[in-house]
Amino acid sequence: MSSSKSFNPFAMAQAQFDKVAEILGLDEGTKEILRNPLREFSFSIPVKMDDGTTKVFRGFRVQHNDARGPSKGGIRFHPQETVDTVRALAMWMTWKCAVVNIPLGGGKGGVICDPHNLSMKEQEQICRGWARQMAKNVGPLNDVPAPDVMTNAQHMLWMLDEFEVISGGKYPGFITGKPVGMGGSLGRTEATGYGVIYTVREALKEMGIKPEDTTASVQGFGNVAQYAIRLYNELGGKVVAVSSWDNKDQKSYSFIKKEGVNIDELLKITDRFGGIDKVKAKDLGYSVEDGNAWIQQEVDILIPAALENQVNAETVTLIKDTVKIVAEGANGPTTPDADKVLIEKGIFVIPDFLANAGGVTCSYFEQVQSNMNYYWEKEEVLEKLDQKMTSAYLAVSELARKKNIFMRDAAYMISIQRVAEACKDRGWV
Ligand code: GLU
Repeated sequence: MSSSKSFNPFAMAQAQFDKVAEILGLDEGTKEILRNPLREFSFSIPVKMDDGTTKVFRGFRVQHNDARGPSKGGIRFHPQETVDTVRALAMWMTWKCAVVNIPLGGGKGGVICDPHNLSMKEQEQICRGWARQMAKNVGPLNDVPAPDVMTNAQHMLWMLDEFEVISGGKYPGFITGKPVGMGGSLGRTEATGYGVIYTVREALKEMGIKPEDTTASVQGFGNVAQYAIRLYNELGGKVVAVSSWDNKDQKSYSFIKKEGVNIDELLKITDRFGGIDKVKAKDLGYSVEDGNAWIQQEVDILIPAALENQVNAETVTLIKDTVKIVAEGANGPTTPDADKVLIEKGIFVIPDFLANAGGVTCSYFEQVQSNMNYYWEKEEVLEKLDQKMTSAYLAVSELARKKNIFMRDAAYMISIQRVAEACKDRGWV
């Protein structure tokens, strides 16, 4: 995985906002309120480690905007987490909820830690500590967390349990991405990856291309990538490469199979963080190449589904002329520099906060089910998800066509307009 030291995701998120705020002619007050978070929390989480020592972890929650409803967004566990990354991700959540038109605002949380090196007991203490620090400022009516990079349903349940102990009642609507049977929604695990492919399906339809005539290459092999590959395969598409982070080597590798990767065989040799075993992959006939090889494949579709800053000024030059679509499964994978090159190359970009909005859309369904304590069948959840994603996609692509603008700008225009309107209607600006 490549990244530059000077990369600041929050500066990037603000630059993207400023560009569209200018086009929309927003007034100074509205610009000021939207280009910064409304609220930020930064705190210490002490943990009694298994070896008897105490280690203090740094935790964050940023509530970017709640004019349209309670703040909503995941909590990431990552050793390189920074408050600026959380700020950027919180802002992107505001636009994400607005583009799919769900009544939620944007927030994000994080803890600087590496779950690869933490026992389950230590991770439980981090989760409970996070919930204790934030209990007064989160909740079903204020701010609703969810899983993100390196957090999962078990982490959400520990946080819920701690929150309920403090609050003295059952509040399953406090958090989403819970285990099914413990307040979680069927379809939530699949939702982000499936959502990416619903938008790819619509883009291919508009281009008059059949999914079965296409190939794709995917960066990352976590939850989003795994379910995106699965649904894309079901539509008939072939994935020829995936990349994955090797924690031992502290670098990523690409796993290539020209006749198409087999998701089930790969999952058998993958750890819970999405790390694929190199030796076993070779035995299965995969060619194991450099971390950037995924972006250099002669495919129709690229799906960056790992972290931010992956399609950058350097890696964008490696993209082959065959590529027609970049569908951003990750948050912030493409830098503004690289964006310009994608426009020049005529590549159709399905921007992150539209492409990966399936996760939060299903979280919204989960919250609704949790609050009324009545749960839907999986088919119903996925049908509603497809409807929401498809109509959001079509609204963005129609605006992009009508105004002859880039998809990212069209998505931003719709979202920013909706949030600005909510701030104005509430009398904030
Ligand atoms: N962490 C996911 C995202 O970035 C999901 C957030 C949520 O479900 O609230 O969209």
